[in-house]
Amino acid sequence: MAKVAFIGLGNMGAPMARNLASAGHVVMGYDVFEGARTAFAETGGTVAANLAAAVVDADIIVTMLPSGADVRTVVTGPGGILESATPGALLIDCSTIDVASARDVAAAATAKGFRMIDAPVSGGVAGAAAGTLTFMVGGPAEAFALADPLLQIMGRTIVHAGDSGAGQAAKICNNMILGISMIAVSEAFNLADGLGLDRQKLFDIASTASGQCWSLTTYCPVPGPVPTSPANRDYQPGFTAKMMLKDLKLAADAAKASDVKTPLGSAAGEIYEHFCDEGGAATDFSGVVRYLRGAG
Ligand code: NAD
Repeated sequence: MAKVAFIGLGNMGAPMARNLASAGHVVMGYDVFEGARTAFAETGGTVAANLAAAVVDADIIVTMLPSGADVRTVVTGPGGILESATPGALLIDCSTIDVASARDVAAAATAKGFRMIDAPVSGGVAGAAAGTLTFMVGGPAEAFALADPLLQIMGRTIVHAGDSGAGQAAKICNNMILGISMIAVSEAFNLADGLGLDRQKLFDIASTASGQCWSLTTYCPVPGPVPTSPANRDYQPGFTAKMMLKDLKLAADAAKASDVKTPLGSAAGEIYEHFCDEGGAATDFSGVVRYLRGAG
């Protein structure tokens, strides 16, 4: 069993770290926020007093942090992982961040004798708790092979997408599809309302016709057709509109940097920005259906 340091014990990180400990790994957790450290300790987790103490003798270091800037600080900043951990350790960054940051920190880690992969996830807090996340991995094949047994504990589907940054690229592309398709499905239901077409009838037809997609069949934005979707619990998240906006901004920045046109991705980003500004940020992203109804 490995000595694992887990940095970032938030909504996703805490349950992922708990699953590693339950599988028998020796897990040392750390979070800059005292409340997160206390909550992790209260559920039986072991916490370190600071970042250096968490990583100093770890074989594997997992990070699950809000942004690329946070990952840069924790990995390459003063007193960060590259200064405090033992070279040879495997670094697994599960945060959703920009591709450039992922590649930069991986290059810095490799130059100092560490191995590193980017391994962002899909599946949300429920998937983190159940150990059923999907991992999209970028990095060398050898590092992927070393990480795979650990990822199998936290997830169900593990895909090696390519070189460093490829995991983040896959995550950004997937969530751009999701953001756009949720708006498309929402507009269709709003149009059906306007035309007097029964919502269930639209669902029955589109879910078996060419309009079929995950936003319709698994996460239907209107109450009724899919009882487990957030629409049936007043759009409690789930996956917040704020997180969707973050991912669409990452996609827009990546598109600009690589000179690729993504007009629907940009439009979706603007819609989610307005939805968040009007109070939707903490609600589920499928609540955009209500915003669109009011937006005229
Ligand atoms: P969160 O805000 O709940 O947790 C992040 C934690 O990182 C916080 O507890 C914060 O205190 C800690 N942190 C920040 N800076 C730190 C530092 N310098 N050192 C140590 N700890 C630090 O966020 P989350 O929902 O757990 O999401 C984490 C990542 O996973 C994000 O990149 C997010 O985009 C991604 N993600 C989230 C979901 C979801 O449904 N919540 C789904 C897929 C991917």
